[in-house]
Amino acid sequence: MEALIPVINKLQDVFNTVGSDVIQLPQIAVVGTQSSGKSSVLESLVGKDMLPRGTGVVTRRPLILQLVNLSPEDRRKAAGEENDPNTWKNGRLYKGVESEEWGKFLHTKNKIYTDFDEIRQEIENETERITGNNKGISAEPIHLKIFSPHVVNLTLVDLPGITKVPVGDQPKDIEIQIRDLILRYISNPNSIILAVTAANTDMATSEALKVAREVDPDGRRTLAVITKLDLMDAGTDAMDVLMGRVIPVKLGIIGVVNRSQLDINNKKIVAEATRDEYAFLQKKYPSLANRNGTKYLARTLNRLLMHHIRDCLPELKTRINVLASQYQSLLNSYGEPVEDKSATLLQLITKFASEYCHTIEGTAKYIETSELCGGARICYIFHETFGRTLESVDPLGGLTTIDVLTAIRNATGPRPALFVPEISFELLVKRQVKRLEEPSLRCVELVHEEMQRIIQHCSNYSTQELLRFPKLHDAIVEVVTSLLRRRLPVTNEMVHNLVAIELAYINTKHPDFADACGLMNSNIEEQRRNRMREMPPSVPRDKGGPGDGTQDTGTGGWRGMVKASKSEDGTYEEKTKYMTSLPASPQKGHAINLLDVPVPVARKLSAREQRDCEVIERLIKSYFLIVRKNIQDSVPKAVMHFLVNNVKDNLQSELVGQLYKTLLLEDLLTESEDMAQRRNEAADMLKALQRASQVIAEIRETHLW
Ligand code: GDP
Ligand code: MG
Repeated sequence: MEALIPVINKLQDVFNTVGSDVIQLPQIAVVGTQSSGKSSVLESLVGKDMLPRGTGVVTRRPLILQLVNLSPEDRRKAAGEENDPNTWKNGRLYKGVESEEWGKFLHTKNKIYTDFDEIRQEIENETERITGNNKGISAEPIHLKIFSPHVVNLTLVDLPGITKVPVGDQPKDIEIQIRDLILRYISNPNSIILAVTAANTDMATSEALKVAREVDPDGRRTLAVITKLDLMDAGTDAMDVLMGRVIPVKLGIIGVVNRSQLDINNKKIVAEATRDEYAFLQKKYPSLANRNGTKYLARTLNRLLMHHIRDCLPELKTRINVLASQYQSLLNSYGEPVEDKSATLLQLITKFASEYCHTIEGTAKYIETSELCGGARICYIFHETFGRTLESVDPLGGLTTIDVLTAIRNATGPRPALFVPEISFELLVKRQVKRLEEPSLRCVELVHEEMQRIIQHCSNYSTQELLRFPKLHDAIVEVVTSLLRRRLPVTNEMVHNLVAIELAYINTKHPDFADACGLMNSNIEEQRRNRMREMPPSVPRDKGGPGDGTQDTGTGGWRGMVKASKSEDGTYEEKTKYMTSLPASPQKGHAINLLDVPVPVARKLSAREQRDCEVIERLIKSYFLIVRKNIQDSVPKAVMHFLVNNVKDNLQSELVGQLYKTLLLEDLLTESEDMAQRRNEAADMLKALQRASQVIAEIRETHLW
């Protein structure tokens, strides 16, 4: 059983090193009103003069006091083995410490205090450091460990006393603040509450027992201590109180006599005080002497704590194991610290490159569900965005009847023409085809943007580890971005050429165009006949009407079309559609108008002119549709070849070529400080938890529970 307490101390050690209070370890907390003698009780348990004590507000921060019993063998063994004056073994400092007992604070690291006056001074300094010197209090604990052959293994917590009236710098709500602080420690279900009441005050109204009952209503972990038995009024005694007749306390009521202020001032040593206490009890309470006093209190506490620890351990083990697995998975999510930097770099680069390609091909592990991305988005750009934009380009957009007419006239030159001049068709259709270049280049731009976006997607979802190395991440983004940027002009050039190729040769022998002409030819002829039939006799007839014999309707030839519109005299009102047609776009095609022939903005076109315009427009429309289809088909292919596939194929070698260099290794694989620190913290915590779990397991084995 004795073995359990060192276990708890060991556990406490373990958790102190990681500075965490995730596990509430069994300990003894002292509560009571100010000056009831709490610090004095603790001190006599330690057997050493070392806590600040006195009247008024002395204890102003929780003090977590760990007592570690040093057995004589420990010291003998250590002295034989170790030569280093400051050697630690099993968490204890051995040779080199002249004194047989010493203290150590968490906040002063490995500094050893052999002078207990110095310990008291350090507690005072450390209290003032946080709370100021004017009675302020703080919830931040001071950790102190005492190693001695004269103590039993206990963890004790000294707390500020319950008070009602603020003094000094204390805030108005000091009572509540202190209560909260006390409750925080004693509500730990693994703590034992030492409720201290002075014998010269009324036990029935003990604040200590009141606050203890709040968190321990069944009194399963509350032990009452009655101090100042020596200060009771003459003629009174604490018999009833100590017998539990005033207030019964399940775990017991133990009376003690601590050193008075005078004793302290006179530097009365603890051993002497203990002797005097024993003599006092023998004299005043002979029947109760062996169940009271500091020594009995210490033994009782030790026993209680051991039982208590035994009860707590199984649950503690579970909690430690749960936490350990939580920290393990946290640690896993941070990734391993880099050992082989070169291999790691290559692996990260390769992983990024393949994720990038997978995202384009749609085979990525992390498929985005909220929006289209990667290859799917490129497909959307080709067929929806680009396709629809092309389809919305009006074959005759930006072309007014005046433009058409002017082109016809200019192409005819000085001779009056019999036929609609071919050259005017070519000029005009080129101008329209040119209009396909802009949306095509825009398509390249959109795909380029998407390729850029994929970089982000990859670092966000697919290559999360990359975020650990911000420099590598930036470098990769830089390389891919510049590769993409390099491919942009090449792709644009190709797309520009695709349109230029269409402009280079207007293929009027294109089978689809010939078919369209044939069809139109007969339609026009049909319409013309109909129109003539409907026309009033006063309107001059088209001399080149049906039966002219020169027509070439059956072949669908382009010449036939032109002939069909000759010798037209009738006048037509210019259609509203032409009146409102859009101004010509400022494209190169507009050069047709360079001659700047003054053409009235709106006038009546002759029937002949009307007919000619109609024919030219139909031809333009028909040819334009053929070219548009070509462009709609060839631009995506060009973008895929020159941009998407090219980048996809060269990404890996580009990244390796630029980043996989010995000189860059260190820099690129510098982890973000944040990450390195978080990993270390989690690793420390995990190690502590595993050690704790191991310690408990060992104990369970030896004690068969
Ligand atoms: P705390 O505020 O509860 O920590 O009380 P302290 O331990 O600081 O004690 C307050 C004062 O009461 C000090 O001057 C102690 O010397 C004195 N004192 C504590 N216990 C006893 C006791 O049993 N008998 C006598 N005579 N004085 C005591
Ligand atoms: Mg105190």
